[in-house]
Amino acid sequence: MATDRSYYEILGVERNADDADIKRAFRKLAQQWHPDVSADPGASDKFKEINEAYQVLSDPKRRQIYDMVGTAGLGDMGGAGNPFGEGFPGFGDLFDAFFSGMGGQAGARRGRKASGSDLRYDLRITFEEAVRGIEKEIDFDMLDRCGTCSGTGAAPGSTPTTCKICDGRGEVRSVRQTMLGQMVNVSACTRCNGEGRIVDQPCQPCRGEGRVQRHKALRVSIPPGIDEGHQIRLSGEGEAGPRGGPAGSLYVAVHVTPHPQLRRDGSELYFELPLSIAQASLGTRTKIATVEGEEDLEIRAGTQPGTEIRLRGRGVPHLRRSGARGDLHVMIRVHIPTKLSKRQRQLLEEYAADAGEMVLPSGGILDRMKDVIG
Ligand SMILES: [Zn+2]
Ligand SMILES: [Zn+2]
Repeated sequence: MATDRSYYEILGVERNADDADIKRAFRKLAQQWHPDVSADPGASDKFKEINEAYQVLSDPKRRQIYDMVGTAGLGDMGGAGNPFGEGFPGFGDLFDAFFSGMGGQAGARRGRKASGSDLRYDLRITFEEAVRGIEKEIDFDMLDRCGTCSGTGAAPGSTPTTCKICDGRGEVRSVRQTMLGQMVNVSACTRCNGEGRIVDQPCQPCRGEGRVQRHKALRVSIPPGIDEGHQIRLSGEGEAGPRGGPAGSLYVAVHVTPHPQLRRDGSELYFELPLSIAQASLGTRTKIATVEGEEDLEIRAGTQPGTEIRLRGRGVPHLRRSGARGDLHVMIRVHIPTKLSKRQRQLLEEYAADAGEMVLPSGGILDRMKDVIG
């Protein structure tokens, strides 16, 4: 479905929102807009839009593609697919399917282990690196899986035991009738924190947490054409989950140092070329900045202010279309001198006389006014 708003805007979440944030936002909006519960005539379309955003953002692979290039990159995977087949799931089904574990504490699903936090790494690269792509080594401190207990949290030789309160399910359920039908309220087992298992003999180095602080180094490959604000998501490279829970994602937020002379807009580049009136009139050979470095450019005689010289394929590579590059636009600005030497003025006056143009004499009214005004 075509929409001008980003999936993040539709769900009302930040771009770095984690899975729990996205689920929470979707749940809230679905409660408001699901056609089964909303009397609003636009509810069906609205819910479709919300569902589409959720289907993409809740899937790490599709979300990564979407973050980098928007819906265009999703191709056949599409945003609009309805995972429920024809029509909408019933309101009750929806909440059973998605949120049976969210009635109480987040992440309290059936014996499910909490996952590790997502991490964010801000990486600054140069303009040229962004254009060409580069591999960068990054390093940071993080909570990583404990090597002594392999993340279980149990001392070597011991094993975690099944929680007797919830019988290993990790959750305590209660069913109640509501206007919308049967609602299952689920809360995490407080004895085992929803994990279903209890560590009786904690591992020493991690104190039963299953993870320890560690310095980690990673090589990140930055694709050519990446731009300021893009994020690269490396799933599973975030913080380890407690006691063997799944690791979070690492988001590498890319910051690009601007080029001193080239302005970038997506895959297009712009270079402003100032010319004097003589150069624009008579033509010249001059230097321009390009991605590849300084280059000569010949300017034809009689070039008008505002002329745009387009150097095809000399812009920034497209992120998803390999081989394709944008253009470099050379924008001609003609500068009119505000200060003239005596000789220059004399030559211009001669030029005007020859062309039959009326010009003000030196020390004319306007010049004197300028002197008065300061
Ligand atoms: Zn350990
Ligand atoms: Zn329990």
